[in-house]
Amino acid sequence: MDIQEKIEKLRKEIELNSYLYYVEDNPKLEDYEYDKLFRELETLEKEHPELITPDSPTQRVGGISEKFEAVPHKNRLYSLENSNDENELKKWYERVLKDLNPATGQMSLFGTVENTKDIDIPLACEYKIDGLAVALTYKNGSFVQGLTRGDGLIGEDITNNLKAIKSIPLKLFEPVDVEVRGEIYMPVSSFEKLNQKQEENGQKTFANPRNAAAGSIRQLDPKITAQRDLSIWIYGGIFEGKNAPKSHSQTMKKLKELGFKTNKITVVKGIEGAIGCIKKIDEVRKGLDFATDGVVIKVDDIHSQNELGFTSRVPKWATAYKFPPEAVWTNLKEVAFQVGRTGVITPVAILEPVNLAGSVVGRASLYNFDEIKRLDIMEGDRVLVKKAAEIIPKVLKAEKTDKSKPFKMPECCPCCDFKLIEKENEVGLWCPNSICPDVLKGKIEYFVSKYAMDIEGFGEGIIAQLIDRGMVKTWADLYTLTLFDFMKLDLIKEKSATNLINALEMSKNCKLNKFINALGIRLVGKESADILCQYFKTIDEMKAATVEDLAGIDGIGEKMARNIYEFFHDKNNIKTIERGLKLGVKPVNTYTISDNLKLKGKSFVITGTLVEFSRDKAQEILKSLGAKTPSSVSKNTDYVIAGENPGSKLDKAKALGITVLNEEEFKEMIN
Ligand code: NAD
Repeated sequence: MDIQEKIEKLRKEIELNSYLYYVEDNPKLEDYEYDKLFRELETLEKEHPELITPDSPTQRVGGISEKFEAVPHKNRLYSLENSNDENELKKWYERVLKDLNPATGQMSLFGTVENTKDIDIPLACEYKIDGLAVALTYKNGSFVQGLTRGDGLIGEDITNNLKAIKSIPLKLFEPVDVEVRGEIYMPVSSFEKLNQKQEENGQKTFANPRNAAAGSIRQLDPKITAQRDLSIWIYGGIFEGKNAPKSHSQTMKKLKELGFKTNKITVVKGIEGAIGCIKKIDEVRKGLDFATDGVVIKVDDIHSQNELGFTSRVPKWATAYKFPPEAVWTNLKEVAFQVGRTGVITPVAILEPVNLAGSVVGRASLYNFDEIKRLDIMEGDRVLVKKAAEIIPKVLKAEKTDKSKPFKMPECCPCCDFKLIEKENEVGLWCPNSICPDVLKGKIEYFVSKYAMDIEGFGEGIIAQLIDRGMVKTWADLYTLTLFDFMKLDLIKEKSATNLINALEMSKNCKLNKFINALGIRLVGKESADILCQYFKTIDEMKAATVEDLAGIDGIGEKMARNIYEFFHDKNNIKTIERGLKLGVKPVNTYTISDNLKLKGKSFVITGTLVEFSRDKAQEILKSLGAKTPSSVSKNTDYVIAGENPGSKLDKAKALGITVLNEEEFKEMIN
């Protein structure tokens, strides 16, 4: 592979993982691994500067989803350079000193890396909070807008959700205009409780407090945000005018006086002082109730900060020291396999039990066969295991021993012994048995989950018993269960059995979109289920659609279209649906669809705040009239509805010559 190819490959991998991390709040890599890829790319680009492109991940920060309105930042937000090596910190400090003394521009004046300690400028050291960066704008002392960092230039408007966080003051002690930056976080204790609750309810757990915070704040429904215990640490502010603070530490003092929640800040002299501070923080950080992944070191003097400026991605006046990941080495005894709800086989490392961050670990995730290949895993290897997100440990790397030997790829399903298959255009191995117990458990867990049929009370334990005892073979069987059946299960008393029966009964009157999501058609999630229900009135219409019909729908890709078609042409799936309907499940399509709907096929984007409608309500009305309501403006948009304080979508609409409606015109149209 030549350098260019290598760079391209790294960029692709970094971009994919950035998307999963920033947009989906669902990272697949450890930060440690992501940072390694990033550094590898940085090094290659440094060696071959002619290959740097403006869209390289090394030239940008973060990412934005289309869930919220995109709003440009008044002042750009940056990332931070980071390392977990003292020498790198010293090199950063050396560059700072050099840049602050352009007259000499000579490092020899300051000596070598070893004795930079001789020149001491004040550095502010702070906890690096592992959360989600936000910028909050205050006008006249009142909180007016809150944006995520997004890509640094444009953020997502999450003002309403931020208002649900009690530690964000809505009114300051003085009527000032200021923009502050901070990190939204979830206390570690709350994160643990939330994950426990999610697990009990059979819902997705969060990988770490950072993802829990990011996932909770970026909810479309502020009520969900309000239920989650979120808080903020403010770590900076931009004051303007001649009375503006002269140093970062003075800024922090001022912010505290204004009523913001600020964390400890230690001003030290020179890089040696900062290294001493890092050591102290490392000793205390585990006892803190917020996740911190390092220490941020900032040049304290604001005039010097301005002199130093920024690169395209990071300030030159700050750097972060990241604590190395907590990991232990142990022996990999065996590679075992398990099967999930889609039937895909995932490898698991069976380890020689080892104590990791306070608990004994005997299994670790290997995710998929690509990961095994990437890590070059063999049975008998020494492996470095990290407690990922304090929940499921994962293997970070492997080293060969004289006992290392290749493991045998499975031929049969570890659960039902069916012969595994490979699928065209899909990676990995699959169990084709539609009644494989483990596949079934996964499917039923998904069927009852919140965004599917939302049937309360069905935890993993109950589902496992129902399937292991052969009481449930398809989701339709759930609706045949009686009070007596439930009471036969371990640890189920009459009251919870009654609750389960009631929950099932209630779920029968469901929305068609939730039902379609619950069916677990591969690649079809909540959003695509919504789209299908806006195009087809009934399940019968969906069944009758061809792959071409389906692929022609905006938002349904080729692959998904094929999956939907195959799903509705599988005899067993149809039998189960018919049985479920006979047993009383009555999905109702709440999107009124008719061929002569006046807005059928038209695409509307809303920006700003409407006076008489919440955005959800306006979208619901539009959808009920046959319109589509994507969140971003493109050349396919027919109308942009502009409310109060419209965002950048309005500019884009104007630039593309799209018709803009005000609220009155919108009302007329829907009348
Ligand atoms: P970062 O998190 O390493 O550092 C920058 C951020 O630190 C700032 O934006 C700010 O929000 C925050 N911060 C916390 N405390 C601060 C303080 N006291 N002062 C100033 N800023 C403070 O950088 P990033 O650009 O947000 O993200 C890059 C990092 O995210 C990577 O290094 C990696 O660890 C992680 N990441 C992981 C994956 C993955 O797949 N696991 C993917 C993308 C990014």
